[in-house]
Amino acid sequence: MEKKHIIIIGGGIVGSTAAYYLSKSPDHRVTLIDDGTGQATRAAAGIICPWFTLKRNKDWYRLTSQGAAFYETFMEDLRKDGLEHLPYKQTGTFVFKKKEEHLRHAVQLADERRVDCPRIGEVTIHTPEEVAQVIPPFTSEYGAVFATGGGRLNGTQLVDDLRNLFVKNGGTYLQGSASLVDEKTVLFQDEELVADHLILAVGAWLPQLLSPLGYDVDVRPQKGQLIEFETNLQTDDWPVCMPPGEIDLLPFENGRMVIGASHENDMGYDISVDKDIINGLKEKAATFIPELVNEAISKIRVGTRAYTSDYAPFYGTVSGNDKLWVASGLGSSGLTNGPYIAWQMAQHILGQDPSYDLTPHSPEKYIQKLPKA
Ligand SMILES: Cc1cc2nc3c(=O)[nH]c(=O)nc-3n(C[C@H](O)[C@H](O)[C@H](O)COP(=O)(O)OP(=O)(O)OC[C@H]3O[C@@H](n4cnc5c(N)ncnc54)[C@H](O)[C@@H]3O)c2cc1C
Repeated sequence: MEKKHIIIIGGGIVGSTAAYYLSKSPDHRVTLIDDGTGQATRAAAGIICPWFTLKRNKDWYRLTSQGAAFYETFMEDLRKDGLEHLPYKQTGTFVFKKKEEHLRHAVQLADERRVDCPRIGEVTIHTPEEVAQVIPPFTSEYGAVFATGGGRLNGTQLVDDLRNLFVKNGGTYLQGSASLVDEKTVLFQDEELVADHLILAVGAWLPQLLSPLGYDVDVRPQKGQLIEFETNLQTDDWPVCMPPGEIDLLPFENGRMVIGASHENDMGYDISVDKDIINGLKEKAATFIPELVNEAISKIRVGTRAYTSDYAPFYGTVSGNDKLWVASGLGSSGLTNGPYIAWQMAQHILGQDPSYDLTPHSPEKYIQKLPKA
């Protein structure tokens, strides 16, 4: 029997995870095409801790908390496939609050949310002095709640690992930009590739891909910048720190600290470095870890997030065409819910029974076929 051909355009966290799971199927051959420019996944900070959000969208919360919980299965799958150094670690997360009553509210919220998502773990209140016992250079006037379930992800390592496993499973990886001839035919470097199933996992670039076929897509880009330091600090087991305000501090292995990120609207697909924003991130980070004043920035990352007009992500099939799949609008939580979204799409395409209902996140509201002029 001839294998069905699945083509995935976009090799960020969604496309790469889908490619990885689909490439395990003996009945399919999978091609992943990725341009890579401005990719959000490689630019992202890496926070996996959605449980303290005050966002009111219940469908979003359910998806994203389940997405964080899915990391256990996901990492186990990667481990079984021979990956020894995993890109995700459950380090715990400190979430700082300006007022005592907000700390108590966070614990209460966690207690309520633990019923549906035990992955949140234990949640306890810590004074600034107790935080400094765990992270000695950390200076803050605010107390924090500590959630043992919080973790951090190295997005670049994950997509590299997924690509290696996918290629090992027989998948074909093509680097470059693709366009669509029609809903099942992809044009890549003058060659037309025909898909039995086509997945568009191109993040913020979905309008560019679909508008030539007459679709109107409710997705806009948002620019994000962040900085890295290579320090001599003993960061390996430090938790992620989420102080009030825009920046977060993520300690990775061997002294690496990631600080981010900016949220810049109306910048289109611009991925140039803005020195004022970069200096602002460093200054702010040094108010929490004063040693960083004397550290040189070792890396700057810039990427483009995808947002819908109601800030909700979508994924599923387009306009009743069960061979054309899309996922976009993951905004600032796509590292958290992206793998779970990709896994669900893969389960559907392979005809396996997924435990999750896709209806609340249907693309229908966000993608419309325009009538022919
Ligand atoms: C600075 C920053 C910090 C963030 N921090 C966090 C965080 O801490 N936690 C969290 O959960 N989320 C975070 N996010 C959000 C998260 O990174 C994104 O939601 C997620 O990575 C989106 O994944 P994706 O696969 O949908 O898109 P992307 O990762 O953007 O991947 C899309 C890919 O498609 C490619 N592509 C586009 N058009 C074409 C084409 N025509 N042909 C071929 N390839 C194409 C692009 O080049 C890109 O490589 C952050 C994002 C940014 C920018």
